[in-house]
Amino acid sequence: MKQELTALDDALAMVMADVAVVEPEEVALASACGRVLAEDVLAREDVPALSRSAMDGYAVRREDCCGAARKSPVELDVVVELPAGPSAETSIGAGQAARIMTGAAMPSGADAVVMVEMTERADGASDRVRIFHAPGAGENISPCGEDARRGETVMECGQVLTPPAVAFLATLGQARVQVSRRPDVAVLSTGDELVDPESEPRRGQVRDANSYSLAALVNSCGCAVERMGIAADRKEELLAMLGKGLSRDVLLVSGGVSVGDYDMVRDMLLESGVEARFWKIAMKPAKPTFFGVGPKGKSGQARRCLVFGLPGYPVSSIVAFEQVVRPALMALQGARNSGPLMVRAVLAEDFRKKRGRTNFVRVRLEKEPGRLVARVSGPQQSSRLRSFVGAQGFMVVPGEVEELSAGDEVDVEVLGWAL
Ligand code: AMP
Ligand code: MG
Repeated sequence: MKQELTALDDALAMVMADVAVVEPEEVALASACGRVLAEDVLAREDVPALSRSAMDGYAVRREDCCGAARKSPVELDVVVELPAGPSAETSIGAGQAARIMTGAAMPSGADAVVMVEMTERADGASDRVRIFHAPGAGENISPCGEDARRGETVMECGQVLTPPAVAFLATLGQARVQVSRRPDVAVLSTGDELVDPESEPRRGQVRDANSYSLAALVNSCGCAVERMGIAADRKEELLAMLGKGLSRDVLLVSGGVSVGDYDMVRDMLLESGVEARFWKIAMKPAKPTFFGVGPKGKSGQARRCLVFGLPGYPVSSIVAFEQVVRPALMALQGARNSGPLMVRAVLAEDFRKKRGRTNFVRVRLEKEPGRLVARVSGPQQSSRLRSFVGAQGFMVVPGEVEELSAGDEVDVEVLGWAL
């Protein structure tokens, strides 16, 4: 266990070493978005299952349309109408066309579709069409299997399911899917000064903000959250609440992990059997960030609770969450490649900091022609929550850097939930 500052990379590695992926469960597709796939998904059939028209128009034989143009249309017999929907097999022969709608199965014999805008019904004859365009091979056809081949692996275990992913699963007929179960995450705010937001604080009291931010952040990771409320800085109360929280997969405790006289969360965690891994991370804000693992279950088999002690300041607890808790919650679900989006941006103004800790500076991102500009979103003290509202990313300034100038290129971690 390290009492000194732990480098963020080392802290993350320690957290990951204690992560054991949760068990899978089957869910209906309608509730699968945001969850992590716990199986590879194979296409059970070709997608699309047969060749379909990609446009409203006429299915034709290319050889019949040679040289077709506005000034020299070719005229074809319309022998069948093909709306999208269940249909018998159809075919066209020489000099024939099929009126076809987007998504309808192609008739055999046809090798292209001419979009309706490049055609005209022949005068007076509802069963003849003039074609003004000589299509290329396969033009406006979605061929059988273009999106996936039967038996092909189309999604991999560890993928986070997004809206397009659930749409694709639906397309594949995968109405139920194996995902990692939702980890249970308990959130506890600590501090004698805290009251609920509905309350009128007395002198010296502040409203509990962290329960709300942390619960929302946990939800954004696809986990189930239990808000335990507020614990006062009293031994018995803390021990009881921590004991309850330690029965979950993850326990997030905010406040009381620093060096103040009433910061007793750390001692109570140890007294509750938590094995500490680190206490402080070399980052700013959110230096006083604790991580440890809960006691083994009675059987010795049960998974051990991942315990994070987050700094009390609402700004700091969110920063700590993003840097160490989110990666842990995603890894618990077996997620792969789910890290934050990093972009390069041009700094709008000079920036100074002390040497030592990695700084996460709240910035807004402005689009300018050919570049992205990062502008510090306001005062950066940990007590200034307002400058976080509307920030879109963290400018990541490495520990050794002391000074940046307007116009410098910087790395920005984009906050997925702030776009
Ligand atoms: P602590 O880490 O307990 O020393 O708290 C640092 C600062 O964050 C103090 O000003 C606390 O009042 C404040 N704070 C702690 N917990 C919360 C919370 N849940 N909501 C809002 N402010 C908090
Ligand atoms: Mg406190």
